Amino acid sequence: MRLSVSGRSAAAAVIAAAALLTTSAISTAATGSPGAGTTAPTRAAAPDISVANVKAHLSQLQSIASANGGNRSHGSAGYKASIDYIKGKLDAAGFTTTVQQFTTSGRVGYNLIADWPGGDANRILMAGSHLDSVSRGAGINDNASGSAAVLETALTVSREQYKPAKHLRFAWWGAEELGLIGSSNYVRGLPAAERTKIKGYLNFDMVGSPNPGYFVYDDDPTIEKTFKDYYATKNVSTEPDREGDGRSDHAPFKNAGVPVGGVFAGASTAKTSAQAQKWGGTAGQAFDRCYHSSCDTTANINDTALDRNSDAVAYAIWGLSS
Ligand SMILES: [Zn+2]
Repeated sequence: MRLSVSGRSAAAAVIAAAALLTTSAISTAATGSPGAGTTAPTRAAAPDISVANVKAHLSQLQSIASANGGNRSHGSAGYKASIDYIKGKLDAAGFTTTVQQFTTSGRVGYNLIADWPGGDANRILMAGSHLDSVSRGAGINDNASGSAAVLETALTVSREQYKPAKHLRFAWWGAEELGLIGSSNYVRGLPAAERTKIKGYLNFDMVGSPNPGYFVYDDDPTIEKTFKDYYATKNVSTEPDREGDGRSDHAPFKNAGVPVGGVFAGASTAKTSAQAQKWGGTAGQAFDRCYHSSCDTTANINDTALDRNSDAVAYAIWGLSS
């Protein structure tokens, strides 16, 4: 999650988004409730994502930071090593991977795009997360957490040899912390005909905050409902995301007319007492006290939030791709 934008840029973004709001919402196949009858179509049940595997990815990304000056920031050896780690896992699992190189602030950055072979190439569902940290720390909650949740979901797609109706594409973005640079470059570089094939973009930025909240992006109603349905199955109440509005890689997609959604566990905003009552944790304390700090390490993760939110990634990908 990048730092909050100035009021002026936020206003410009609102105007740009408003101009594109006529785009239709993402469509999903009709769903039937389990056991409702033999004629009702049912979508494939989403798998449980192994939080142990997600945490193993976090440990690897922490080790990469520790071996490279303590961070994985844009332009650093730690960032490139992070890309190589994720690409290696995806290549071994049968994904078609592409590394996009770009230069910003005088340094080379990378996006990693991974396509799961198959599905309708004219209807693409994307999920992504930024992989760069700030230079002050290892960036484990922000945003190794989202990166690892998306990676483990992609690896689960492969393990289950999932055959979705839509084509699945996963992305890890560079230089988000410098202003959504990698994702903006990606969207800008897509020909209009390719952009309109993307029927949804799901963003995961900070999903293991140590004093967690459960926030759902309220951009596209269908995607929002999918995530809310998931948390309802876990009896976890949610709130619409406000803190993260426009501050992560979903923004360039939304501004280009792509339906977007995602979940977020909170950053530097303090948890209210009402929120502590429904979610537990500490009122009056930030959702992530280590936001953009050197203490954003593997110790800065709430395992329950990481587990639930990783499962939410899979639930939405399975639900929205069938
Ligand atoms: Zn951030």
